[in-house]
Amino acid sequence: MNFSFDNSYARLPERFFARVEPLHMPAPQLVRLNEPLAAGLGLDVDWLRSEDGVQVLAGNSVPANAASLAMAYAGHQFGNWVPRLGDGRAILLGEIIDHGGTRRDIQWKGAGRTPFSRGGDGRAVLGPCLREYLISEAMWALGIPSTRALAVLTTGDQVRREGPKPGAVFVRVAASHVRIGTFEYFANHGDLHGVKTLADYVIERHYPQAREAANPYRALLRAVIERVAALIAQWQCVGFIHGVMNTDNMSIAGETIDYGPCAFMDAYDPATVFSSIDTTGRYAYVNQPRIAQWNLSRLALALLPLLDAEEAKAIEFAQQALSDFVQQFESAYRRGMLAKIGIEDARESDLVLAQELLALMTAQHADMTLTFRYLAQAARDPIASAALRALFTIPLPLDAWLDRWRGRLAQTGIEQALALMRRHDPAFIPRNHRVEAAIEAAEQRADFGAFGELLQVLAKPFEDQPRYGAYAQPPLPHEIVPATFCGT
Ligand code: AMP
Ligand code: MG
Repeated sequence: MNFSFDNSYARLPERFFARVEPLHMPAPQLVRLNEPLAAGLGLDVDWLRSEDGVQVLAGNSVPANAASLAMAYAGHQFGNWVPRLGDGRAILLGEIIDHGGTRRDIQWKGAGRTPFSRGGDGRAVLGPCLREYLISEAMWALGIPSTRALAVLTTGDQVRREGPKPGAVFVRVAASHVRIGTFEYFANHGDLHGVKTLADYVIERHYPQAREAANPYRALLRAVIERVAALIAQWQCVGFIHGVMNTDNMSIAGETIDYGPCAFMDAYDPATVFSSIDTTGRYAYVNQPRIAQWNLSRLALALLPLLDAEEAKAIEFAQQALSDFVQQFESAYRRGMLAKIGIEDARESDLVLAQELLALMTAQHADMTLTFRYLAQAARDPIASAALRALFTIPLPLDAWLDRWRGRLAQTGIEQALALMRRHDPAFIPRNHRVEAAIEAAEQRADFGAFGELLQVLAKPFEDQPRYGAYAQPPLPHEIVPATFCGT
């Protein structure tokens, strides 16, 4: 089978990457193939499932027209500068133009060591690959820009972590794998030509309208800031916590990328942190917008010489663009949160209404997803709000809020509100205890049943799916999984 690769990144200067061959895996087995995604890429699904196809998906055979390479990048990890990171355990297989006309990277994760591996083994283990598969596909189904899961395979060998773990390869698809850290890498070397080459590449690939601007690099910075502001607003509206918002984990195309110890919150609490390595709460839910802005400031610094010939003017422009992030994020977040309570044409007082609900949810540890989902039933009928009231320990203040809210909806029409809420209040998110249970069954018993079922439920997050109602429920106290691990 021929992959119709067209590898634009491999045509960039040699210092942008290292050419590498993936490691041979002893006995790869396909765990899951994302057939609709594969078909959308013009790939032959039956062939991918064949013995030859599995060898390609595992990295054991490299298609003739692929250009397997590891990308160079740097980054700020938890605020600390690391001049050389790069793909230490990921290999770009190539790029395909999908059926929608968009260029997509196909990447193996866990395909072995590269010149960027430092002390690492270049490998991935099954659990984190399944987590990335579930959560990235859930994000996509929720309408949130994300890299996607094409396939996950076990490799037939064990990888050493805290103990031996089943080895895996994860095949992912992304708009591209260029990160803020990729720009930082060249800027740090004083390689202005590299920064410019990369910026031109990113404009061509992701922001073609910036080409028309008087200064395309200014337009690029503005466009990236806008996309990231919109993305983070979407994260906040579903309670997604990335967990490792380092600049090397931030896509220049505005997609959610590099799923590590990420998780969705159950009970609404802005201070929520899952990642076991995030001991100071730097990447807590409430901090995500601020951190995104800080990361964008690293991008602005890298682009500075391209923004204006005069440094003072370049800085002035960058500062303005970065401060506009706040307003862009706030307005997208407000629009999203108000849509969750059925309000489209917002007034000043509506914002207070939304904030009051969030304050109640915080004080009473109400489940975020279910609170919003159950609001629809409570819109018309006070009796039907029993399920909603049950999420709150002291429902009285909620009752008062519901009265005010119903009054507000009556002014613009309940039907319209309900339609809006159906599109913005999912019933199903990848709840951490469900994700962990699916991983445990897979790792300990090679049982992929729970993984498959969860994946199926998460594909239609806005539908009721009564058969799978249990998946909509928060964990019971003994089921709560308070921490997540990178597993790298
Ligand atoms: P991550 O935490 O997955 O975003 O990775 C941060 C950096 O560490 C990237 O440069 C990765 O390529 C590298 N890295 C993570 N895990 C491994 C591993 N097992 N072997 C080699 N490099 C790794
Ligand atoms: Mg990363």
